[in-house]
Amino acid sequence: MTDTSKRVTDLPLIDHHCHGVVDTELSEDGFRSLATESDWPGPAGTDSLDSPFGLAVRRFCAPVLGLEPLAPLDEYLARRRSIGAAETNRLLLRSTGTSEYLVDTGIRDARLLDPADMAARAEARTSEIVRIERVLEDLACASTAAGFISELPATLAARSREAVGLKSIIAYRHGFDIPVERPSGREVLQAADEWFRTAEGTGTFRVTDPVLLRFGLWCGIDAGLPIQLHTGYGDGDIELFRADPSRLSPLFHATRTLGVDFMLLHCYPFIREAGILAQVFPHVYLDVGLVSHYLGPSAGTAIRQVMEIAPFSKVLYSSDSYGLAEHYAVSAAIWRTEFAALMDEWTASGWATPKDAERIATMVASENAKRVYNLNAEYSVPFA
Ligand SMILES: [Zn+2]
Repeated sequence: MTDTSKRVTDLPLIDHHCHGVVDTELSEDGFRSLATESDWPGPAGTDSLDSPFGLAVRRFCAPVLGLEPLAPLDEYLARRRSIGAAETNRLLLRSTGTSEYLVDTGIRDARLLDPADMAARAEARTSEIVRIERVLEDLACASTAAGFISELPATLAARSREAVGLKSIIAYRHGFDIPVERPSGREVLQAADEWFRTAEGTGTFRVTDPVLLRFGLWCGIDAGLPIQLHTGYGDGDIELFRADPSRLSPLFHATRTLGVDFMLLHCYPFIREAGILAQVFPHVYLDVGLVSHYLGPSAGTAIRQVMEIAPFSKVLYSSDSYGLAEHYAVSAAIWRTEFAALMDEWTASGWATPKDAERIATMVASENAKRVYNLNAEYSVPFA
């Protein structure tokens, strides 16, 4: 290992987008269902862990739990069970060298640890990212159509007082093919009336109306915090072509001077499109979370693409982990391995000095997140 890759491998990380970990014991099926974005079981006779992620778990997580690298999966799962969920989570989270997790609390899954419990389990800092659509739905449950409209701005502000950012899942609920302007009061009232009428029949508030989604997004823009946007790859709700971030150019033109930053999450397979947006628009940033664990041995390709055209000040590390501590562990290990290899390549081929390489890696690992989210902590590497 060169001095450069050693230093990159040891950098503290800020994980600017992740979800909570499941801290209760998981059955093998429960583990497998959290090892894929698919909402459905695979065909009979197949295993969701026969995948790049399965290889990555065996390579990077097995040694953390005291097994040989690439130990068979059944051995790994048996080991996990014997150690127990809490200790497995502690060991794997500690192995990531993550100093701070920015946790999206918008998913309705009671098994996930909240930011405070995550902090205790990971022995690291956590901050909250508030999901705009969740605030809309929670408020609607306790309000009338007119009350919902008048109360949303103050509710969103109150809900995000302690948070460091907001998140929108417009890509899941509709797609980025929506008008960019702030909707008029009349449009919002009409859409809210319709939404409340429908909810009377269904008994639930799930926001999918593009006018209401835009209303929420613009209330978020008014709140002034960085806004994370899910783009590209995701679970079965996604219509992939409608989640292409290049559809967001009109929004970025309309918001360029408003003082709000947009963080493009995941981006895969539109990494290059997102990189171009991050270069062109001063208030646009990107990561390659999610795929870093799912791509396993091929994750280096995504990491190389994210570093192709975006300024280095615009790229952030994230894991987009959800549920399994293995996601956090694999993401961090792969990022460290692949980013170090890339920086080694740049220095060996005369593109950067070792000092440049270390500086670039530090920006992506933590400095950019610190600046954009205004995080003030002093970080040290919390490796176990
Ligand atoms: Zn996510």
